[in-house]
Amino acid sequence: MNRQQFIKSLALVPLAGAAMKLNELSKFTGPLESTASMPVLFMGHGSPMNAIEENEFVRGFRTMGEGIPRPRAVLVISAHWETKGTFVTAMKKPETIHDFGGFPKALFDVHYPAPGSPAFATETKNLIHKTDVGLDQTWGLDHGTWSVVKHLYPKADVPVIQMSIDYSKDAQYHYDLAKELASLRKKGILIIGSGNLVHNLGMVAWDKLNTGAYGYDWALEASDNMKKFILADDHPSLINFRSQGQSWNLAIPSPEHYLPLIYTLALKNEKDKISIHNDKAVGGSLTMTSVKFSEV
Ligand code: ZN
Repeated sequence: MNRQQFIKSLALVPLAGAAMKLNELSKFTGPLESTASMPVLFMGHGSPMNAIEENEFVRGFRTMGEGIPRPRAVLVISAHWETKGTFVTAMKKPETIHDFGGFPKALFDVHYPAPGSPAFATETKNLIHKTDVGLDQTWGLDHGTWSVVKHLYPKADVPVIQMSIDYSKDAQYHYDLAKELASLRKKGILIIGSGNLVHNLGMVAWDKLNTGAYGYDWALEASDNMKKFILADDHPSLINFRSQGQSWNLAIPSPEHYLPLIYTLALKNEKDKISIHNDKAVGGSLTMTSVKFSEV
């Protein structure tokens, strides 16, 4: 390097620094760089113990995460946050919420200190015209979120926000609302629905919970039909889940664990391939079945 080049490169240093800062600033505020579409995940979260256990389902979660570019942020629709109206968490530092009882202390000791993102929460709110989305300062990350996201980003170094499920609305409403989130996939956002396709806690065979895969006939029947519809892109049949007969009514006694699937279906595009993961029933009346929609 001659003297002139050296002086030139010195002069470039502060400029490069400033450019980097500007780039950081515009991450959540300016027009966003377009990226390849991020995958969309439906994750069957099952027992909160999956947060701290090493088991086949946790390994399945990690497999789902393989090949996903590092996201700018994660947006989770969790079965465990139901509200009247729709909200997004908008605090800088969301609390880890331990929204369960009767589990070992080790589970209550889990903290998942992923940052929030007020800017991304506002960006998400502004995308939705179907309803006036509220910016929430009181929730945080519930176990529907941290028990699965923890396995994808164990360092908690990717911002995470949650969107609530309006319990007063039907599945078609949620499907239409979720469509308004579609552009986020092109902006490096990983969207996750966290619930369970078959989820009837009142009928769990507790004695069979830890004895390997076990599903009641109705649970397996409903699960098979759900998968068939998912793989055939038959979204109307999945939206009209109350018209699918007795096995589905037993599988979905209340819709909060099923509706996160509806969000992910709405975000599927024509190029997406569908892969099924953790496809097992446990305790008779739960399935861990998870779905990845991905262009690659
Ligand atoms: Zn749950």
